[in-house]
Amino acid sequence: MARRQGTAELVERVRSGDRRAVARLISLVENGTREELREVAEALNPLSGRATVLGLTGSPGVGKSTLANALVAQYRNAGRTVGVLAVDPSSPFSGGALLGDRVRMQHHASDQGVYIRSMATRGHLGGLARATPQAVRVLDAAGCEVVLVETVGVGQAEVEVAGLADTTVVVVAPGFGDAVQAAKAGILEVADVFVVNKADREGAGDVVRDLKGMLRMGPKLAWEPPIVKTSTVNGEGIDELWEAISGHRVHLEDTGQLEGKRRRRVLEEVESMVALRLRARTAGLLDQGAEAELADDLAARRIDPYRVAGILLEKVGPSTGESDG
Ligand code: GDP
Repeated sequence: MARRQGTAELVERVRSGDRRAVARLISLVENGTREELREVAEALNPLSGRATVLGLTGSPGVGKSTLANALVAQYRNAGRTVGVLAVDPSSPFSGGALLGDRVRMQHHASDQGVYIRSMATRGHLGGLARATPQAVRVLDAAGCEVVLVETVGVGQAEVEVAGLADTTVVVVAPGFGDAVQAAKAGILEVADVFVVNKADREGAGDVVRDLKGMLRMGPKLAWEPPIVKTSTVNGEGIDELWEAISGHRVHLEDTGQLEGKRRRRVLEEVESMVALRLRARTAGLLDQGAEAELADDLAARRIDPYRVAGILLEKVGPSTGESDG
């Protein structure tokens, strides 16, 4: 009971904008027990859903943090409070103390209208994918009107994290792999806006041309992702980026897609939660006791993998029929 009150009190403090409480609650959604996660989810649910979520993704070194910094300045100029969540699937470090963040976000650090947190894997990717939407809700509940989720790397992880955002900005830069690689990583599909950063460097024009070529080969989309050339060195393109992001927002609202996108997002969140739990419940089952025999039969091909999967699923919960696949 004491802990329940603790969680409620912490959420209440977050709601009043208490920065230390925000940090603590984000740590809790990263590392909490099942019971704590359940309490936090219940308490946050009615307090969130207001923030605009902007995703920023791309390979390490393309300039995401620098761009995030520039965007935070734009939002602050527009009088809006901002939360920044830097998610690094490749880093074991967590807790908002990454050196890079501190350096690049320095001039926002003392701004009461900006919250900055970093999250790292702490073991496994599934955990990060689960914790990130909750961390976004924490910032939302704390009153952030915009939550900027910055994801490092290019691959399945950020495609998943990118799914969190209302608008996803994919950042590329000359010298960081070509557009074909980007297409392979699945980022063409998740991009609502492309940024070719480091426009002050040679090769930026080629990257733009390649991207245009790749997009032309794809299906015709209702929203054609604009390609914006930026340079954080001389400030080129930052206003255009701001306009492209705003333009996508207007498109989402005008076409009624914002609701649909958010609805799909929360359904996917639940699906991945269920998958994670099922995985936890079935992991190692074949290594123990009665099931060890099944494992022997499987290895000796006396039984097929499909049937064994069915048996395991039956064990952890009653089948509901065909939908079990
Ligand atoms: P991240 O890893 O994607 O977050 O990239 P960073 O924001 O840390 O930037 C990586 C490096 O590129 C840093 O040294 C930045 O100063 C530099 N950088 C960022 N934007 C630009 C740019 O527009 N032009 C040039 N020449 N360098 C940039």
